[in-house]
Amino acid sequence: MKTNLKQLSKQELFHFMEQSGQKKFRTNQIISWLYIKLAASFDEMTDLSKDFRRELNKSAFISNLILLKRLESKDGTQKFLFELEDGQTIESVLIPNSKGEGRFTLCISSQVGCAVGCEFCMTARLGLKRNLKAYEIVDQVIAVKRLIAQQSSGLTPAPLIPSGNEVPDEPQKKAGEKPEITNIVFMGMGEPFNNFNEVSQALLKLTDLMGYSRRKITVSTSGIVPGIRKLGEIKPLVNLAVSLNATTDEVRNRIMPINRKYPLKELIRACREFPIPPRNRITFEYVMLEGMNDTDNDARRLVKLLSGINSKVNLIPHNPLDLAGDLHPPSESRVLAFQNILKKAGITTIIRKSMGGDISAACGQLKAAYKAE
Ligand code: SAH
Ligand code: SF4
Repeated sequence: MKTNLKQLSKQELFHFMEQSGQKKFRTNQIISWLYIKLAASFDEMTDLSKDFRRELNKSAFISNLILLKRLESKDGTQKFLFELEDGQTIESVLIPNSKGEGRFTLCISSQVGCAVGCEFCMTARLGLKRNLKAYEIVDQVIAVKRLIAQQSSGLTPAPLIPSGNEVPDEPQKKAGEKPEITNIVFMGMGEPFNNFNEVSQALLKLTDLMGYSRRKITVSTSGIVPGIRKLGEIKPLVNLAVSLNATTDEVRNRIMPINRKYPLKELIRACREFPIPPRNRITFEYVMLEGMNDTDNDARRLVKLLSGINSKVNLIPHNPLDLAGDLHPPSESRVLAFQNILKKAGITTIIRKSMGGDISAACGQLKAAYKAE
């Protein structure tokens, strides 16, 4: 059976190449082709001899995600639906940064579906299909980097896409400008800490092999306390985001069943004990649900909960899953009033507008829409 080179850790890759009688610098060349120059096949590795490439082809292969669908929103957000080797599908979302043209944050998935079952979340409705492998997590970054590079060079027409908001044929950016993924967030499908080993291996590849700074990577959890503690122990230490979404156990139990296992007190204690590097903060995400968690009292309780933690808060007005459902975003004035209380208490609080509303950019929605077709 052929070996997927991207499935190997750096050490394993050196070992594999050594066994095939190759020198160290050859492995370094291959690492660079895989993770920096983003080669999708051995044919692209043009500075390796044809004989060597033929040899490699006999014993190894390079995994690639298959792009099934790509949608672009009016606000520049793009969604990618990818197929995995076993036919399962995942999605990644590319969000333009507020500062800087052509700079993006990529939101990636860590599982196919999710078992946590949060009431407000589309991914929850899929249930858990399976964990992603580390290489499938990293392949999302590689695939999107390749796709946006092709689009900006104008060399290759945008692949696929039968309907909906098609990606424009013309590259939107000026010639010479290279689009760049500056930040990576684990906020797509899945609960990263329910797949800790593969996620931590992916983090190592992103930092060690692809060259991303730990400061540019954020892992978001629904509040799996042992995962928070383990993340605090691995090097390099990446950023932590916690989806808090409620200020009392009563409400949190109702919308996030994980709270029954790890209640607020325990969760906040783990956050307090997380080794936040100097000048860094924990991000607390707070999906705002009308009449559920959006009162002034909630805001005041949130201030209390976070006191003493270097934190910032992202308020995310709920992106409704279906119009007939019980959950809705509050009015804009309610969100602003809530934000004001936090700001007055000295907590940096940003309202995250739902990006890509016209292409169902809430987590899990592209996949769900695709399935429904
Ligand atoms: N499982 C992890 C990471 C993925 S979810 C976690 O829960 O943190 C990423 C974020 O999307 C979470 O903060 C979650 O609260 C938010 N989210 C999920 N569904 C949403 C919706 N319909 N509208 C707005 N935000 C949503
Ligand atoms: Fe899973 Fe996060 Fe969605 Fe909750 S919000 S169901 S943890 S993906």
